[in-house]
Amino acid sequence: MVLRLILGDQLNHNHSWFQEKNDSNLYVMMEMRQETDYVNHHIQKILGFFSAMRLFSQNLNSQKHKIIYLRLDDAQNTQSLTKNLEWIIEENKVTHFEYQLPDEYRLDEQLKAFSVSLKISTKTYDTEHFLSSRTQLTDFFKGKKTFLMESFYRMMRRKYGILMDGNEPITGQWNYDADNRKKLPKTHRPVEPLVFNRDVSEIHKLVQKQEIKTIGNVNAKAFFWPLTRQESLQLLDFFVKNCLPNFGTYEDAMSMQYWSIYHSRLSFSLNIKLLSPLEVVERAVEHWEQNQDEISIAQIEGFVRQIIGWREYMRGIYWNQMPDFQRLNFFKHELKLPDFFWTGKTKMNCLKHAIGQSLNFAYAHHIQRLMIIGNFCLLAGINPDDIDEWYLGIYIDAIEWVEITNTRGMSQYADGGVVGSKPYVASANYIDKMSDYCSSCFYDKSKKTGQKACPFNSLYWHFYDRHRAKLERNPRIGMAYVTLNKMPVEQRNEILKQAEFYLDKIEDL
Ligand code: FAD
Ligand code: SF4
Repeated sequence: MVLRLILGDQLNHNHSWFQEKNDSNLYVMMEMRQETDYVNHHIQKILGFFSAMRLFSQNLNSQKHKIIYLRLDDAQNTQSLTKNLEWIIEENKVTHFEYQLPDEYRLDEQLKAFSVSLKISTKTYDTEHFLSSRTQLTDFFKGKKTFLMESFYRMMRRKYGILMDGNEPITGQWNYDADNRKKLPKTHRPVEPLVFNRDVSEIHKLVQKQEIKTIGNVNAKAFFWPLTRQESLQLLDFFVKNCLPNFGTYEDAMSMQYWSIYHSRLSFSLNIKLLSPLEVVERAVEHWEQNQDEISIAQIEGFVRQIIGWREYMRGIYWNQMPDFQRLNFFKHELKLPDFFWTGKTKMNCLKHAIGQSLNFAYAHHIQRLMIIGNFCLLAGINPDDIDEWYLGIYIDAIEWVEITNTRGMSQYADGGVVGSKPYVASANYIDKMSDYCSSCFYDKSKKTGQKACPFNSLYWHFYDRHRAKLERNPRIGMAYVTLNKMPVEQRNEILKQAEFYLDKIEDL
């Protein structure tokens, strides 16, 4: 008997494993405390993973594949991946063990060590999901000092011939980022997001009964994330028809009223592999080709760049940098994450909304994650370990390979410039430009000091001031120091004093 392990984020129906039925192959899937407890997860994340896994296993069953599915409360479930595998191998007289390469370093190491410990033969398979191999980024940038995302992205566009005319971009221009930075107009109403209303209360009760510690809120009777391939394809179809025409334009916009605006919300389906990145991009490009009079190139290029650019790039960075990456703390930030990250109870309206919606939907879009939540953490000097743990727990799409590279790398610059060439920080000016948060905030967006001054304004200068030695010579930052240096000393001191006052009272902000 051959035992084949399927991890919770390996729900790829099109994997070559499932294309032929063979009675000597025994598949195994498991719900385990090992996976629910390594960080404190959002309840929707746990319900999303377990529900999607159960539905995937039912599908394999209906195709007459042999499968052992261990539920969380099964008597035989030891709650440990390797201990479960040990008794399954023993009980089923398994002579050969196979697994698909995990995307997480933690699981990769665990399964490597387990394979070495076995007396039977083992084999690993690719997950047949990504468009680049684990080492492609490393090979591509061999001998180079920096990993420029744009060069990697162009290589991927060429490799897959996406939006290309031979070796050159179809319109002669690679990147339309500059066109994609509009605020949502007051009267503009984005389309209502497509949600699915599946009853997952049975698993919810199980999670509660097992006393698994979770964060966030859920309506388990009407779970709105896609859980099957069919639902994921429906969401993809909804996206290309209803959101793609405005995707790029409002990609960076933030709103108190609309939680996903024109974003695809496909990251969960993609990360658990119900959808492949190639099919997502091909479907979007096909729709754009047929509707070029309604959808500009800036929209489709923006979307393609996220998937074949950023997503593949982050995976490459992960395998290039781990395990050291998880310990990097370039700025030596040590402050603890304030309690309002678990409640959303803060007077800062931008954070109240971005955290609040993360607790309600297990989702915030990219700019909320980067320029509100991450920006605040970086300006305040929060320990990247705390930040990583929070991000890894709260978002439904959070799997370490894509979470840590975005959080520790892109958002916190804790890698000292591996992912980004400068820290992403901003004051109220940017937040007000891209959102409707500031107009109804307790704080005054235009004030740097004094009563009700927006904390982002003084923290912004405090950040640059305290990290002068590390940042002043960065050519991409120059202007900030020119302004700081020109500032009258008294004014500068007042701003820094204001920032320190806020940092002392961070829990009360
Ligand atoms: P859309 O805006 O519709 O974008 C389409 C797709 O592009 C996404 O589904 C995603 O697969 C891909 N994509 C876009 N940006 C990125 C990026 N920077 N890196 C990788 N893929 C990208 N993404 C995750 O999937 N899991 C995470 O845990 C995660 N953590 C993040 C933490 C921080 C601090 C930041 C700044 C970003 C993080 N991202 C993460 C990237 C991005 O914010 C999410 O992929 C996106 O918000 C998911 O929503 P969506 O599907 O509606 O995306
Ligand atoms: Fe956020 Fe400051 Fe704007 Fe309030 S005023 S919403 S704290 S940026």
